[in-house]
Amino acid sequence: MTTATTPSAAATGATRDPIFDELGFPTDPDNLYLQTCGTMLNSAELIDLKHRVRIILAQPKNEIMVHFPVRMDDGHHRLFKGYRIQHNNALGPYKGGFRFHEDVHLDDVKSLAMLMTMKCALVRIPFGGGKGGVKCDPRGLSEGELQRLSRRYCSAIADQIGPDVDIPAPDVGTNAQIMAWFADTYMMSSAGDHHDGLRVVTGKPVEFGGSAGREKATGQGVADVLAEMLPGIGIPVEGMKVSLLGFGNVNGWGGRILQDMGAKIVAVMDHTGGLRNDNGIDCHKLFEHNMKTRGVAGFADADAIGEEDFYRTPVDVFIPGALEQMIKQKQASWLDCKVMAEAANAPCDPSGERELSAKGIEVIPAILANAGGVTVSYFEWLQNKTSQIWDAERVDTELNRHMCVAARRTLATRARYGCDMRTAAFATALEHIGAVYKVRGIFP
Ligand code: GLU
Repeated sequence: MTTATTPSAAATGATRDPIFDELGFPTDPDNLYLQTCGTMLNSAELIDLKHRVRIILAQPKNEIMVHFPVRMDDGHHRLFKGYRIQHNNALGPYKGGFRFHEDVHLDDVKSLAMLMTMKCALVRIPFGGGKGGVKCDPRGLSEGELQRLSRRYCSAIADQIGPDVDIPAPDVGTNAQIMAWFADTYMMSSAGDHHDGLRVVTGKPVEFGGSAGREKATGQGVADVLAEMLPGIGIPVEGMKVSLLGFGNVNGWGGRILQDMGAKIVAVMDHTGGLRNDNGIDCHKLFEHNMKTRGVAGFADADAIGEEDFYRTPVDVFIPGALEQMIKQKQASWLDCKVMAEAANAPCDPSGERELSAKGIEVIPAILANAGGVTVSYFEWLQNKTSQIWDAERVDTELNRHMCVAARRTLATRARYGCDMRTAAFATALEHIGAVYKVRGIFP
């Protein structure tokens, strides 16, 4: 791996891309959509992507916004706001998760949908990009309320999605049970081939069309990418020190897998608190604790630490696996690591990214590091389509192949252009999308 010479636009705070003005974009530099779009356009410039493809990718194809009522347990009705953003489908059906969270906003969902287009193109699966969400606090809902909300959200967008049109999946605040309610609602209400409706959503429970290995897939993919890339920068996985921000599905699995590969997890922080143990935190035990108490706080075999101490813990690899934009300039200035592997989508804001770049911290971007989830979603969709059931070993082998090839392609692009890894990953994805637009042309 060579040293980065051309940091991304977001990292340098480079000038506003002329396409922003051409399309009448806002000027707020902290807007997540502008940040993501700026990164995309910076890479498009590097590879000299056609202007027509740049403007197409700078906006989603469809922005669907819905409002729907849900009956709460006490008998009154609450109105919820939901989104489904369909960013691009040049490579195949729109694909991407939907989240239930209080902070779901249009620009964030647009940004996450664009990242899905890039992610699917980078790992070469035949999907475009989409993302959805409902503004709500799922922790504050009963199981019955959550089920009614999931079913109403599905029926509100059912006409615009489909097994060969747009295929949702889990994301922050959603899980396999919610995917089962979603699939059941779609299948009960769709005309035509009832059973084929199962493919409308991935990340389902294994007993209802889900794939072996889907639940751990994002964490497994992070581990696969690290194992492929780290030896090249002199960090052996065996014995490497790791800190984890967030301990939900992604880092809960990623932490246990990396520990089993010989890494030492020395610090963990989530919304309930921080932990440190220089001899290593046993992630298997922490996972059990987290299942019972819904947080890492109170875990006996580690010291409780605050936010600043968590970020300052010296490690080889820091893995943010929580929400977007948590790493701002302050947090980045505290970090003491060689590599940051983005298990969460867009974990840094522009100020955080600038600080990381100034400190020379190597960033493995989310579109590469966390692409394991959508890759196994593709395997699930394929299995549903062909009535096959793959075993866990086949899923792991195929996932590893996709992740390693994407990592190697990114490194090759980086070497070709002498750029940072984020720019290289986007450029690799854009080269593929650009080639598809070249042969397809633009209708009419
Ligand atoms: N929500 C996950 C992501 O951001 C998975 C999407 C999918 O499986 O379609 O990559």
